[in-house]
Amino acid sequence: MQSFLFLFTLPSLIISQTSLSEILRRSDRSRLFDTLTEIVHEEYKDKGQSSDQIVPVQYQRREASIAAANEKLQDILYEGDILVTPQFLERVVDASLRRQGNRLKRQAFLDATYPMSIWTEGVPYVLHPSLSLSSRASIQRAISFWHEETCINFRPRTNEVQYLNFVGNGDGCWSSVGRDTKSGPQPVSIGAGCSHFGVTSHELAHALGLFHEQSRYDRDRFVTLNTNRVPRRLLYNFAKIGDDELTTYSLPYDVGSVMHYAPTEFAIDRRFPALTSVDPNLQFAMGNLYGPTFVDVALLNVHYNCASKCRSALNCANGGYIDSRKCDRCKCPSGFGGRLCDEVDVSFSQNCGGIVQVGEDVRRFTITIRQSGMIREKDCIYHFVAPPRRRILINVLQVDGTCVEGCHLDTAEFKMVADLRPVGYRLCCNEQRGSRLVSVGNIVPAIFQSTRKTYSIRFEYTLQAVRTKRRVVQSDMQQTIVDVEN
Ligand SMILES: [Zn+2]
Repeated sequence: MQSFLFLFTLPSLIISQTSLSEILRRSDRSRLFDTLTEIVHEEYKDKGQSSDQIVPVQYQRREASIAAANEKLQDILYEGDILVTPQFLERVVDASLRRQGNRLKRQAFLDATYPMSIWTEGVPYVLHPSLSLSSRASIQRAISFWHEETCINFRPRTNEVQYLNFVGNGDGCWSSVGRDTKSGPQPVSIGAGCSHFGVTSHELAHALGLFHEQSRYDRDRFVTLNTNRVPRRLLYNFAKIGDDELTTYSLPYDVGSVMHYAPTEFAIDRRFPALTSVDPNLQFAMGNLYGPTFVDVALLNVHYNCASKCRSALNCANGGYIDSRKCDRCKCPSGFGGRLCDEVDVSFSQNCGGIVQVGEDVRRFTITIRQSGMIREKDCIYHFVAPPRRRILINVLQVDGTCVEGCHLDTAEFKMVADLRPVGYRLCCNEQRGSRLVSVGNIVPAIFQSTRKTYSIRFEYTLQAVRTKRRVVQSDMQQTIVDVEN
């Protein structure tokens, strides 16, 4: 450890004397992890959120946790569930050291071997007999999901040399990232505690080429890493990945991505999150385990160049793009529907959903979605619409949902920022009552969802008052009051 501390006080000197790979050649994986730990510690030691800024939330236990399932494998796996080669780790270390300042870089696996690192000829797969019945069903669901939502074709293996081998004999949920050109059967482990769809769709996304969302270079603009809340020896799990290996394809950062860590992943104390969202209203959306989001799906569509499957040109609205499996229609961000994503998405029942006009009056909205009957997953979708250039204010009075990290079970979601593609503000915990949410645009898609139990929310909505700021300019004895519209 001593020598590494020295290395990081004088990195440039050491590198000028000998290449990093020479220093690290003798090292094993754990020394690389220690190296990354020091890099992360150096970068973030003076940053982060103080604990008195935190309002403790009584979260319920999550129904599945990759970190818990992989606890024994913590010293082998990278970022909790990724199998990496020492060569890959060396490149991450090397790039982290070379990085200077806050250069914005380009989260999919895009190294020099691309497109060798993707499954251009489709994905042959084998479900190993070691898998439990529930894991098998969940893997099939994940395969169907990624097959339908992208242009990636899956097929049971016949005689292909390279294929995904889903195994369940050992502990843990893990995968490598992208197609490993060196291996024949590439293992994806779906062991005990991993059969949740949020987990299987996540591990399969790794195998198809996705890294974790918070590995993105630009993550510091969206999430804050609080290193004082993570055991020091585990800090390597919070390294960023260089643009030699990773590209975001200019898609927006999605705090609600199924590829994003939960706030308390690797945290010492579950009351104090290791990761906090820069926009505080997004904190509850982090740690989604429901399944892949619009942005997750869009990322793999771009990574596999699915747009090339369609000759049609469509003007998809609101950030939608052409569905490569149905070229005459668009794939839409959540809350939007219709062929061109210019309509309110369809609700589960004709008794809810639609457009709500927002005016100067303060109006109250109460919605309760009950769990009864055969349908489990119930969405009611509304668009709150204000006159052009006006903003909408939502004042939350009461929330009765399932309070879990990620708010992905029984929840409301308000999309209030300019980019309508990522997951919006989610409300599932009663600690969130009193929130005042203000939109950027004049349309707020709102999704009310019940999947396990009754969900209920009460809030007020109105136009945000056009405030007049008085800017005081002083010169001699005169005061000029300039009215500025906010
Ligand atoms: Zn993962």
